[in-house]
Parts: sequence; C-alpha cells; structure tokens
Amino acid sequence: MNSKMILKQSTISALILGIFFFIGILLAASILFMNSSIQAEQTAEMRRTEFRQLGINLADASDYLTDEARKYAVTNDIVHLEKYWEEINKTQTRDNVISRVRELNSPDEELALLAEAKRYSDALVSTERRSMRLVLEAQGVPEKNMVNEVATYYLSIEDQKLNNAEKLTKAREIMFDSKYDADKQNIMNPIAKFQTIMNDRLEAELATARKATTRAAILQMILAVIIIGAIAVLIRLLFKQVTYPINNYTQQLLVFSFSSANFSLVPEGTQELRMLAMNFNELYNSFQEELIKRKLAEDTMKTAKEEAELANKAKSEFLANMSHEIRTPLNTITGYEYLLNNTELGVKQKEYVGKIGMAANNLLAIINEILDFSKIEAGKMTLEAIEFDLHQTLQELCNMVSIGAQQKGLEINFDIKDDVPQYLIGDTIRLKQVILNLLSNAIKFTHQGIIHVLVELMENEGMQAVLRFSVKDTGIGIAEKNKEAIFEVFTQGNASTSRKYGGTGLGLAICKKIVGLMAGEISVESEEGEGSTFTFSAKFEIAKDIARGIHKGSIPNALTGIFKQKRILIVEDNLINLQMAKEILESLGFDTNAAESGWAALRMVKENRYDAVLMDIRMPVMDGYEATRRIRVMDGNESLPIIALSADAVEGVAERAKESGMNSCLTKPLNPIKLVEVLKEFITIQDIHQVFDERLEEASTSQGWVEFETGIRRIGGNRTNYKNILEQFISNHCEDSKKIRGYISVGNFEEAKRLVHTIKGIAGNIEANHLQAASERLEKAIVNQADKELVLLISEFDIALKESCHYSAIFVSTPVDQDITEDKSPEMESTDYLFRLLDLLTKGDPEAKSFFASSAHYFASNLDDHEYSHLRKKIASYDLEEAADDLQRVINRIRLMEGAVKHV
Ligand code: ADP
Repeated sequence: MNSKMILKQSTISALILGIFFFIGILLAASILFMNSSIQAEQTAEMRRTEFRQLGINLADASDYLTDEARKYAVTNDIVHLEKYWEEINKTQTRDNVISRVRELNSPDEELALLAEAKRYSDALVSTERRSMRLVLEAQGVPEKNMVNEVATYYLSIEDQKLNNAEKLTKAREIMFDSKYDADKQNIMNPIAKFQTIMNDRLEAELATARKATTRAAILQMILAVIIIGAIAVLIRLLFKQVTYPINNYTQQLLVFSFSSANFSLVPEGTQELRMLAMNFNELYNSFQEELIKRKLAEDTMKTAKEEAELANKAKSEFLANMSHEIRTPLNTITGYEYLLNNTELGVKQKEYVGKIGMAANNLLAIINEILDFSKIEAGKMTLEAIEFDLHQTLQELCNMVSIGAQQKGLEINFDIKDDVPQYLIGDTIRLKQVILNLLSNAIKFTHQGIIHVLVELMENEGMQAVLRFSVKDTGIGIAEKNKEAIFEVFTQGNASTSRKYGGTGLGLAICKKIVGLMAGEISVESEEGEGSTFTFSAKFEIAKDIARGIHKGSIPNALTGIFKQKRILIVEDNLINLQMAKEILESLGFDTNAAESGWAALRMVKENRYDAVLMDIRMPVMDGYEATRRIRVMDGNESLPIIALSADAVEGVAERAKESGMNSCLTKPLNPIKLVEVLKEFITIQDIHQVFDERLEEASTSQGWVEFETGIRRIGGNRTNYKNILEQFISNHCEDSKKIRGYISVGNFEEAKRLVHTIKGIAGNIEANHLQAASERLEKAIVNQADKELVLLISEFDIALKESCHYSAIFVSTPVDQDITEDKSPEMESTDYLFRLLDLLTKGDPEAKSFFASSAHYFASNLDDHEYSHLRKKIASYDLEEAADDLQRVINRIRLMEGAVKHV
C-alpha cells in the first residue's frame, strides 16, 4: 500500500466490509456452482443407469413375449397366451420404454432405432397372432372367446385349409422357423445398437458433469487463496494505517517530557490518527504557550511578592521608626514624670504629674495595641499553652468587670454548662483578652439590663475540646450593615460611636485574630435597640488537673544608692534623654559622665576608667555599634561592660548589639529596674536579691489567711478601725466552731447555719478569704444536711477560723508600718491600683515591687492566677517592662469600660 495514500478510518472499514461482502458472494456462487456440478454429475449417473435399464427392459420384454408365444404354440396352455397378452396390453413394457425414452429427450437416432425395433416387433407379433389363431382354431375355440387381437387376426386361405393337427404343427413351425429368428434378430439388432449409442451418449454426459465438478473444486480453491490474500492485505492495511501509528505515538509519548519545548508527534496512519497527532501538537503548542505565559506570570508574581516583601519590610521599618519616634518623646515624658515625682511636690502638682504619666502610659498602651495587631498580622504572635482553671478565669473576669457593670447598674451572669471541662491547656491571657474585650463592649454599649456570659462544649474529641463562649447584652445593638465591618481594623459601628463611646475600633479586630489563632471563629448576632450576642469558639487541650493557688508575697523597695562609688559613662545624643538617664543613674548611686556622640565616647573611655558604658544606638555620624566596635579594640577595654540603649522595639537590635561587642541591650523608655538587673550582672554590688527573697518568705507566711492591707482599703483605709474590727472578731468568734459542732450534734441546723453565715460575712469584710470560702462550703452542707461532708467541712472551717484569728491577733498587736501605708491613698479607687502599678512598671520605678506586694490582694483577685504569677515573677526579676506590657491589655479594657461609664 502506498504510504503516501491517506485513508480514512471509515474508508478502511468500508473496504473491509466490501472485501468481505465480495468474498461472501464468491463463496456463495462457488458453493452453488459446486452444488449444481455435483447434481449434474449425479443426474447423468442416474440417466445412464435408467437408460441402461430401459434397453435391458426392452430386450427382456421382447424375449418374454417370444418365450410365452412359443410356450403357447408348444403347450397350447392358455396361461401363456394370457401372459403374452397381459404383457402386450397391460404391462406394455415396450411402449413404456419408448415413451420413457421419448420423455428423456433421447436423440432422434436412438428413437429411430427404437422405432425400427418396434416395427420389427409388430411384425413378430403378427407371426405370433397367426400361431395363436392356428392353435385356437385347432382347438375349436370360437372366435368370440378369443383375445381381441387374435380374434381380429384372419388366417390365410392355405392356413384355413389345414386340419387341426396341421394347424397345431403349423403354429409350432412358424414360431421356431428361420423367418421367426430373422424377425427376432431384426428387433434385437436396433435394440442393441440403441443401447450402444445411448451408453456412449450417457458416458459423455457423465464425463461432462464430472469435469464441471472438478472445475468447481478448482474455483473454490482459487477463491480460498483469494480470500486468504484479501485478509492478509486487510491485516497489513490495518497494521500500517492503525496499529503501527498508534504504537509510534505511544513510543514517542513514553519518552516525552514537558521540558522539551519543540516536541511534536509525526502524523501518520489514517486520517483520524493524523488528525489526532495534529490536534495533540496544536494542543501541546498552546500548552507550551500557556506555560510560557504562566512562567512569565510567575516571574511577575515573584517580583510582585519580592516587592510586597520589600513593602512589608518598609512597613516594619516604618513601625520601628514610628515606635522609635513616639517612644523617644514618651521616654522623655515618663522619665521626667518619674524624676518629678521623686521631688517635693504639692498636692495639685502631684495630681497633674500623675495625669501626665497616665496620659503617656495610655498613649504607650495604644502604641502597644497597634504593635500587638501588627505582630498578629505578621504571624509573629504565638499562643502559650499553659494549664488553667476555666472557672477561676471566668471568676477573675467577673471581678474585673463587676465594678464597671455595677456602676452602670448592669447585672452580669456567668453560666458554664456542666459538660465543659474545668481544667484546660491554652493561652488564658489571650482568652481573657478576648472575653474581656467583648464584656467591656457589652458594658460600654448597654445602658440597662443583663449581660449574660455562656460557655458551652461544642466538641470533645479525646483530650481536645472546642468551647463556645457567648456574651449577650441588652444594649444598643448593631445595624445589619455594620455587623461584618466591626471585625475590621479601626472600624466602629458608626461615626458617632467613637464620639459618644470612645475606643479605637481595634478591639474586635484583635479578638478575631486571636480567636483565629485558637482555631475558632467569632461572629455576632444583633438587632438594633435589642442587644447583641457575640459568640466565638476556641480549641483547647483538656488538662487532667492543675496546681492551683497563688503564691503571694511582698517585696521590699529601695534600690537607691546600691551602685555607690561606681562610675558609668552615658552615651546619648538626645540631651533630654541624656539628662534623664543621668539622673536615674545618679539616684542609683552612680558617678556619671556623659558623652553626646560616639566620638566623644571614644575619647572619654580612653581617658577614664568606667565600670560600665550605657550606649545609645542611634546617633548621627558614629552610631552605637561602631563606637562599641572601636572601644573593643582599645587596650584594656575588651571586657568593659557596654549596655546598648535602643528605642527600636523591633527584632534584631539585640543580635546586632551583641555582634558589635555589646554585653546587653535595653529598650527605651529606660527602665531603672531592668537597668539595675542588667548592671548587676557586670558590676559587683551587695546581693540585694537574697535580702528580697528572705523578706518575701517572711511576708508570705503571714498572708493568705487574712489580707490585711486589702481589708484596710475595703473599709476606707482606716487602719485603726480595721484593727478594732479584727479585735471584735477575735473576741466574739474565735471559739465559734465549737458552738457550731454543738448545734449540729443536737440537730439544730438552723442555728448552726445562722452562725456560719454571720462568720462568712465578717470573714468577707476583714478579707479572711479562706475562712470566707470554708464558711460558704459549710453553710451549703448544713443547708443540704450532707452528713458526710459536714464532718470534713467543719474541720476545714475550724482550721480556717483558728488561723485567721491567730494572724489577726498578730496583726492587731503589730505597730503600724508607715512605709507601707504612706504610698496608699485612702481614697484610692480599686481600678487605680492597676493604673498605679502600670505607671510604676512603665517608669521602671522600683516602688512597683513594694506597691505590688502591698496591694497583692487586689491584684490577686482582679487578675487571674497566671497573670498574677507572671506579673509577680517579672516584677521579682525586675523585668518591669514586660510586666507593664502584660498589665497594659487588662488596663486598656478596664479603662475603656470606665470611659464608657463616664460617657453614659
Ligand atoms: P472599640 O474600641 O471602638 O470598642 P471594637 O473593635 O471593640 O472597638 O468595636 C468596634 C465597634 O463594634 C464598636 O465601635 C461598636 O460600634 C461595635 N460594638 C462592639 N460591641 C458592641 C456591643 N456589644 N453592642 C453594640 N455595638 C458594639
């Protein structure tokens, strides 16, 4: 097949069909031909047999007639006469043969021979009729009794003249004479000839038929060869046009790779297969084009991503700069406020200074909130996984917001469903931040009614629980169109909201991010004028149990002068900051020198001996890093403690400072406590830690049973009154557990309950918290008359009462500690403790420690365990800046809440 000839698949199919159809017809024709040839042969065979038999029959019939006629002439037995005529008239063999021969369309020659035989036969019959007439007449048979043919035969005159005997003899003679034999021979000759001719003809016919059969067989063989040939051609066609091309395509595609840009299938085979290859090539080309386009797009995206990263970096740098720029003046403000506070001030001035500090701290808090949000956005905020008590967390939240709610006349309900696990592992501070934000908003935007906090269990799989928190209020509600937007940054319900209620619009956006970090979702359902329900979910691990309790203690103050006779160089280009740092360091006892630039610092380090250098990082001409590197190569200054001072609140500064040879890094605003902590690492002084820790131990033993300081504040700060109350408590109630046991033993539950209830009230007032809790439990058990519990609870109550009385007695007999009471204003509002502490922490005021210790009860009850212990830890290790950050979030909420209260 010509390979250039392109066939369609349909053409091949038609060709196959046509060839098979043609083969079918040929086969059918050849079978028919074969069949007819065989039949012709069989017919010829049969005709030959039949003709042969006819010849025999004719000869036999003639002999039979001769035989019967002769027998009659000899025996004169009528039977033979009858048989003879039966043959002539009934059997008619001779006539039948002739008519059959005629029927079989024998050639004329044969028919002529038969006619001749018949003619001679008729002549012989005439002789035989004469013989029979002679016999019959000799027998005297009347004519009418003769067979018709015999009766109609008339004897010649001579015969008639013969007597009967002569007639009989004559009858015999004519049947056996030579004439009869000659006549007989005349019949048999044409019959014999007929048989010979006929035989030859039939043999010829048979030979022809046999030849036809042979031809049919040959034809069939030729046909078979043609069919095999046609099938072979078809198979080859199929292979060439279909199978080979498909194989080739497969081979080409097997070694194909997307990287080969110029790949194409060589079209071959049927039109359809060629089309397939061409379509594939077209498709591949467009795919390649698409690939190139995508690659281009990818490159563009990569560039865009790099640009975005650069932009993000620029944003981070902007934030760093902004924080630097804002923190630097803030540093100045808080620093001077600190210094100013340590000078002699009138009441008014003290108040103004306090307000300046508070405003600066609030501004710092807002910056922190913005940085907080940026931190979440940049994915830099990670959650802690700490065990916590959910009930306690919510209790603490309740304490935090209850004041604000009470001031607005709002009721707050907390409902934790029974199946919610109490002890969880998660970031309790962030959880509180979210709930507190929702609660603060609820209080802020509600003027009357109830705020309902509900905690439910959504899923509980193994050691993981998904909780749903909802905060429902009866406040102003949110318009439908604003519902989605309020979770966006800096978005408030409407423009008038910020005017009326204040706020930054950042709270819910931060909540949404934190909830996202907790694998949860936050949403709101609200109707304007009806109220709002904020719901969020969060995932926690379930803790088996957690260690509870807060280690409370007081920390002594006074860091003043601990670095006496130590020399320090302050390198700072900003004169105000320099002045401030100088004063702080001098108040710590340092002998200070100041350098206003990197160059000046180099010169001064060369000329003087210092115990340490406080090095600002950002300075014109020569920055802190460079100055440090140069100091390090100076003789004798390899180990001079150099502490970096940076206003950049971004990562990487500490690392760079270390790389340039600095020993440590502090951030601005300068935190004296942190500064002391760092300097202590490098400058040998008296170990004040030990002293602090001893005092801490001492204080913590006496506390816990009765929170004296909080108790004093509770009654307006009058220590004497408080002591009087304690005295009354000691004299009236210390022996009450015996009385209660007595009442219970005689079944007087009513009286027992009344007495326990009274003690519970007093314990609350004097801040004997263990006693108050034990009373509450005992009271419940008495009401329920739970016998088993009662035994235990009375013992617990007994111990709490005794311990409370014991420490109260010690307290009553201890003279007033002026150092502690001095700092505490009797008019101080409860939230002022938080502001005061934040104020001290942000300023890095060492007073923060003693203030925290003396107000421990307030913080313990308004912060959760973790916050409290974190704060305590951080304050104890002078990490006041971080402690300030922790406290800031809580304060922000409370401040907003109070702001809301004031707006109403
Ligand atoms: P803001 O500091 O302004 O309160 P938030 O992100 O916490 O910022 O809240 C955004 C806005 O959502 C609010 O200004 C107020 O319009 C709306 N909003 C939040 N909580 C409530 C609530 N409980 N009832 C009515 N409006 C609310």
